Amino acid sequence: EPVTGSLVDLLDDAVRAHKRRVALEFFGRTTTYAELGEQVERAARGLQRLGVEAGDRVAIILPNCPQHVVAFYAVLRLGAIVVEHNPLYTPRELRHQFEDHGAKVAIAWDKVYDSLDEFPEDVAPEHIVAVDLTEAMPLGTRLALKLPVPRAREARERITAAPSARKVFPWRKLVDERRLSKRHPRPVVGDTAALQYTSGTTGSPKGAVLSHGNLRANAAQGRAWVPGLRVGQEVFYGVLPLFHAYGLTLNLTFALSIGARLVLFPTFDLDLVVAAAKKSPPTFLPAVPPIYDALARAAERGRVDVSRIRFAISGAMALPVATVERWEAATGGLLVEGYGMTETSPVALGNPIGPTRRPGTVGVPFPSTEARVVDPDDPSVDRPIGEAGELLLRGPQVFQGYWRRPDETAETLLPDGWVRTGDLVVMEADGFVTVVDRKKELIITGGFNVAPSEVEDVLRRHPAVADAAVVGLPRSSGGEEVAAAVVLREEDGATPEEIREFSRDLLAAYKVPRRVIVVDELPRSLIGKVLRREVRDRLQAALGK
Ligand code: ATP
Ligand code: MG
Repeated sequence: EPVTGSLVDLLDDAVRAHKRRVALEFFGRTTTYAELGEQVERAARGLQRLGVEAGDRVAIILPNCPQHVVAFYAVLRLGAIVVEHNPLYTPRELRHQFEDHGAKVAIAWDKVYDSLDEFPEDVAPEHIVAVDLTEAMPLGTRLALKLPVPRAREARERITAAPSARKVFPWRKLVDERRLSKRHPRPVVGDTAALQYTSGTTGSPKGAVLSHGNLRANAAQGRAWVPGLRVGQEVFYGVLPLFHAYGLTLNLTFALSIGARLVLFPTFDLDLVVAAAKKSPPTFLPAVPPIYDALARAAERGRVDVSRIRFAISGAMALPVATVERWEAATGGLLVEGYGMTETSPVALGNPIGPTRRPGTVGVPFPSTEARVVDPDDPSVDRPIGEAGELLLRGPQVFQGYWRRPDETAETLLPDGWVRTGDLVVMEADGFVTVVDRKKELIITGGFNVAPSEVEDVLRRHPAVADAAVVGLPRSSGGEEVAAAVVLREEDGATPEEIREFSRDLLAAYKVPRRVIVVDELPRSLIGKVLRREVRDRLQAALGK
C-alpha cells in the first residue's frame, strides 16, 4: 500500500513501539529508542535556534556514529533537507559540494570543521556544529580514519574554549537545548527529505532530490521483500557508510522502521566487527562484496561467528559468484544480490531471499517497481526478452530530479516517470535481470562492443590475479583499445604477457586486453566501487599515452 507519512512519522512510530529497546550501539555504548527520540527532539530545537527552517539544506559530514542518526532525523524534523557527505572528502571536494547545495548549517566531525570555516564567505555555512568523536573512538579506529590525535585534541580545546570563534558550535550544547522555541510545521510525505549525491563513479557527483515518500517507500518495499523479519529482534551491522544511499536506506530507515538494534561502525574494520559480534551477534548484514570476502575468510579461520546472519544483502556493485559460494560455505547463511542507484532511493531489484534466488543475477523488480529494457539510444523502443539493453525503472522510490541540473534531469527522468539507469542489462522471461555493464563504460574497439566486466571476470579467474579493472584507452588511429590493470596475489605471481595469454583462450580476440599493467591496488570509492576513471588515468600515465 502507498506510503502516507514522512520519515519523521516513521521515527515517531518506532520510538513509540520500541521505547526501551536498543536502537543504536557504538563501541558498546547503547541508545534506546526513547533516548533517540528525545535527542532528536532536542537537536531539532538546537538547530532551530541556529536559524534552520523548512527547506534549508543542512550538511552532515560524519562517519557512522550515533550523532549521525540523531542529526539526520533532527534536520528532517524541521522540514529541512539533509545533505550527506563523504566524511573523508578533502576540503576541495567538500567545497565543490557546498558551492552546489548552499547548506546554511553543517554538522561536521573533528576532522573537517576547521576547513569549512576557511571556505570563502559566500560558500561557507553560517554555522558549524562540531561533533567531537575523539572520546568515543578507540585510538586504532581514529588512526584507521586518519584522524590525527594531536589535531583532534586541539580541536576539542577549540570547541570548548571558543564557540565565539564565530561559527563553531559544539554538538553537546545543541542537544542540551531544552527551551521550547516556536512551533515548526511537520514535514509531509511529498516534501524533500534529502539531497543525496551519487557516487561520482562516471563523472562528478550529482545531487539526487529524494522526498520523504521516496525514502519511506524504499523502506516499506524492503520490509515486504524480506521474509520472516522479526520486528524488534534483528541486529543490523552498519558497516556501510550512512552517507551513501545504500547505507542510508538499509540502516537509517529500514533498520529503525522494524525496531532493530543498529550497531554502528565508523569504518569497516575486521577487529571491530569481531569484538562487537561477541556481544551483539549480527542477524542482518547489508554490505558489499569485499566485506563479505573479508568476513568469510575470518569465519573460515574461526575468528568471528557470523552464523546468525540470516540476511546478507549485497549491492552497489557486481557480486562475484565465488564470493557467494565462499560466504555460504563459511557461514551456512544465504548471500543474495540486489541492484540499486541513488536515484531510486536506492533499491530497485532484488533476489528472492530463499531457494529461488539466482546467483549471478540481481534478481527481479522490487514490490511496486516496474522494469523495462530498451534501446540505449532510443528509450521508446523496447528490447526483446533475453537481449541486452538499457534498464529503465519506475516506482514510488524514483527520485524527483537532480538538484540544479535541469538538462541532466531531463535526460535521466523521462516525462512518464521512468528513470534511465545508464546500465546495460539482460532480462529473462521470468523477470530475472543480469547486469552487463554501464553504458558509458562499454569499450568500442574495431566496431565491436566490449563490456569491461566480462573481461574482468575472465582475468580474475587466473590463479595469480586477485583483482582486475578493464577500461578503454583512446587509440591514435581512432576508437579504443582494451587495457587492464591487475592486482596480483603475490608479487611476481604472473607476468602481464602470461595474463594476456590466459585470457586469449577464454575471450574472442577483440576482447583480449592489448595492454596489461600490474598495480598494488585498484582505486576504489569509500563504499568499495572500482573507479575505472582513475584506472584509465593510471594506465595512460604508465603507458606514456
Ligand atoms: P555516478 O552516477 O555519480 O557516476 P554511481 O552510479 O556509481 O555514480 P550510485 O548511485 O552509488 O552512483 O550507484 C549506482 C550504480 O551502481 C548503478 O547505476 C550500477 O551501475 C551500479 N550497481 C548497483 N548495484 C549493482 C549490482 N548489483 N551489480 C552491478 N552494478 C551495480
Ligand atoms: Mg549513477
